[in-house]
Amino acid sequence: MKTIFEMGAPGRHAVMPAPLDVPAASLPDAVKRDTPLALPELSELDVVRHFTQLSRRNFGVDSHYYPLGSCTMKYNPKIMEAIGALPGFTRLHPFTAMTDAYRKICQGALEVVCEMERLLAEVSGMTAACLQPMAGAHGELTGALLIAAYHKAQNGVLRDTLLIPDSAHGTNPASAVMAGFKTVTIPSNAQGVVDFDAYAALMGEHVAGVMLTCPNTHGLFEPRVADMALLAHENGALMYYDGANLNAIVGRCRPGDLGFDVMHFNLHKTFATPHGMGGPGSGAIAVGERLVPFLPNPRVVKDGGTYTLQDSAQSIGRIAPFFGNFLVALRAYAYLRAVGAEGLKTVSENAVLNANYVLARLRDVWRPAYDGLCMHECVLSAATFASKHGIRALDVAKALLDRGFHAPTVYFPLTVKEGLMIEPTETESRETLDAFCDAMLDIARLAETDADVLHQAPRTMPVGRLNEAQAAKNLDCACTG
Ligand SMILES: *Cc1c(COP(=O)(O)O)cnc(C)c1O
Repeated sequence: MKTIFEMGAPGRHAVMPAPLDVPAASLPDAVKRDTPLALPELSELDVVRHFTQLSRRNFGVDSHYYPLGSCTMKYNPKIMEAIGALPGFTRLHPFTAMTDAYRKICQGALEVVCEMERLLAEVSGMTAACLQPMAGAHGELTGALLIAAYHKAQNGVLRDTLLIPDSAHGTNPASAVMAGFKTVTIPSNAQGVVDFDAYAALMGEHVAGVMLTCPNTHGLFEPRVADMALLAHENGALMYYDGANLNAIVGRCRPGDLGFDVMHFNLHKTFATPHGMGGPGSGAIAVGERLVPFLPNPRVVKDGGTYTLQDSAQSIGRIAPFFGNFLVALRAYAYLRAVGAEGLKTVSENAVLNANYVLARLRDVWRPAYDGLCMHECVLSAATFASKHGIRALDVAKALLDRGFHAPTVYFPLTVKEGLMIEPTETESRETLDAFCDAMLDIARLAETDADVLHQAPRTMPVGRLNEAQAAKNLDCACTG
């Protein structure tokens, strides 16, 4: 396919400016270019076709099944998009909220912030929430800074360590280190959950907190999560909940009730706002009573009948401009209001049911990393196929593309060899899940009979197998093989 710069013809154009009805005026020579801008000259139709065709090379939730584990690629109802695009919100300048004289014209937007924070606190069993963090990882950083601020205010022993399980997402230790902590890894046991004795042995006066994902990234609920919180609190440490997997429990069990002190939500995962491939997302956080004074400034509060801003002297300060990605939070707010408390229960119920359906259909062929039922995602392994037939998780991922499915997450969590992490989400039908499982079984059959075909996948995509290291470093190269 040609790039847009290789298309078009001199003099062709897509705009139809009205005839000039004022005297022509020339720019001063000093600001004029010496050479014309090297822009392509194209008709409107050329441009529309070019970008439409480019968009059709994408895999997205609107076009394909997208079982990317840990990412909760659920379908986003289009009505939330329409609400997020309402001009009353999109045309509002955030400085109106910051300026006393203008705050009266953005009361509706401030109500959304305040109400969304209230709903998130309710859903999580926490005391208060803050929409500022722009992504899950940013929420982790904010939470870790809150934990640091809390301990500093206690004037007690120096607590410089966060405990993080080996199954955690890589952002957890990265955020902890950015907040100034050392990290120590808690090992998983043979069942794929935290090894409690090892955890207890690591706990001590130097521990500021524990970062836990629950259900964890093996798709398993941590059975001793309440005991873990108890032990942490007895030792003066706080509990951080990585909310990326909230889809599995939302509406049914609340991190605050399990003993967590602070958490982030990935609004772009659990609450149906689009994933932006790096932005815009939202990693709103919620905290229990003890951490409220340290929340980022300013907080939106209702004073009489009016929404206004309030600063706390103990706050960690701002973590993002204004109120974070406000329009993302607005979509998620609309989703929460539309789905309601009962609807959230159905979300987690169907998310877990769908994952177990896939697990049940595939487990005899693609062996699960751990036995038993899973929560909202299942982690299978291609290790047997890798050793017997040379077919690795990457080959499975590429072969799925040829069959019209986005790949699951592969090689994560790091604890699983040749991992294939499948998260169907609650929005997929049984027919779609069956078609996906049929494709997985077809790939398994081919691995045994004609493995080489799988090494050549994908054969129907615009690009074939890339040299992944080169493709990331050298964007212009062909980078195959
Ligand atoms: C997605 C994810 C994160 C990070 O969230 P981002 O919004 O991508 O920054 C953290 N932990 C887990 C388990 C995740 O799946």
